[in-house]
Amino acid sequence: MNYHQLDKDLIWHPYTQEKNATENIVINRGEGAYVIDENGRRLFDACSSWWTNTHGHAHPYLAEKLYQQAKELEHVIFAGYTHKPAIELASKLKTYLPENQQKFFFSDNGSTAVETALKMAFQFWFNQGEKRTKIIALENAYHGDTFGSMSISSRGLFTDPFKPLLFDIITIPIQEQFNQDFFDSFLKEHTEIAAFIYEPLVQGAAGINIYSATWLDEVLQIFKQNNILLIADEVMTGFGRTGKMFASDYMNTKPDIMCFSKGLTAGMLPLGLTSATQKIYDAFYNDDKTKTFFHGHSFTGNPLGCAVALASLELFELENTLTKIEMIENSHQQFSTKLARHTKVFNIQQQGTILRFEVKTEQGTSYLNELKASIIRYYLGNNLMIRPLGNVVYFMPPYCSSADDLEKLYQSSEAFLDSI
Ligand SMILES: *Cc1c(COP(=O)(O)O)cnc(C)c1O
Repeated sequence: MNYHQLDKDLIWHPYTQEKNATENIVINRGEGAYVIDENGRRLFDACSSWWTNTHGHAHPYLAEKLYQQAKELEHVIFAGYTHKPAIELASKLKTYLPENQQKFFFSDNGSTAVETALKMAFQFWFNQGEKRTKIIALENAYHGDTFGSMSISSRGLFTDPFKPLLFDIITIPIQEQFNQDFFDSFLKEHTEIAAFIYEPLVQGAAGINIYSATWLDEVLQIFKQNNILLIADEVMTGFGRTGKMFASDYMNTKPDIMCFSKGLTAGMLPLGLTSATQKIYDAFYNDDKTKTFFHGHSFTGNPLGCAVALASLELFELENTLTKIEMIENSHQQFSTKLARHTKVFNIQQQGTILRFEVKTEQGTSYLNELKASIIRYYLGNNLMIRPLGNVVYFMPPYCSSADDLEKLYQSSEAFLDSI
């Protein structure tokens, strides 16, 4: 079979302008930090397959747990019925999360985890007879591709065709330092606010923007004092990505609601999860049936996803994953120092396993920067899989990456920068 032709004939790929797109590489296998193409070429997955992979590809422990679960129970309706994988996952995850997170609602991807959070927040106020329908988000935010999650994301290239259909939000800029006056007048000007949603510490799709935990903590505090719900979108930052188990661990003020996906199942299966405090849950808990949270998905609480997510948490303990994360962090830090000396580079930032920098070009910072294609080509030529956001190159490798893997990535980066 000619897979390349069939792919071109049949498949519509995400975030891809299919006209003039380069031929997709057929991946047959995954192994640790590598994926292996149809010709046996081994590519280092430096972007963790769109930020999902944590413990490495086709991890035998996860595969075994998945197989065992698939033989027992692959899926069951989650209303009126429940199962051990979901309960065990919730019990274990609870021990890792901020203490106020008490209730767990399942969905099947990051966007739906965010949608769930939004609907929870709006209905939280509705159920109490309060008119609060506005959302505050950070400028340049990205929270997903469904209509609700697009509405609370930054307006731009990704959302332009849908702009008239999106609901209005209030945005605030990320600042270097907390400005009390700004927030005092902001809170005077805006009322009826339901919630503030934020990607803690790192804005992903915006271009991997890393920002101050101190600033964010003060913002969270002032919003909390003003009775505004806090929604942490940890879809990308969760499960060790930023150096701690959750990016919210860097702040003292804890969210009311948290959203998870991507690393939740170590990147093995699609699963979304929204956690909430007792206070949120209690606003729905009532003899009055109209106060029910009428939300759910066919695959809510899928046992396979839950079993793998639970196994992934076990791996954090069995494989001492936080130590591996620390190794990557130290290694990234050292390379950042080296990178800073390069004349073709600016805006170098590093947080946990994430390293990002921008390549100087005449087109400036833009997702559609022409340089992207040549960056991808260069790294691929060195068997490295990355996916820059325009001229922003970032590394977000699986936690099982070795020192040698990283060294190769750094060396190729230097060679690339020297070549332009
Ligand atoms: C990826 C991402 C989402 C959307 O998740 P999907 O599974 O792609 O729908 C939402 N929020 C953040 C912060 C993300 O990085």
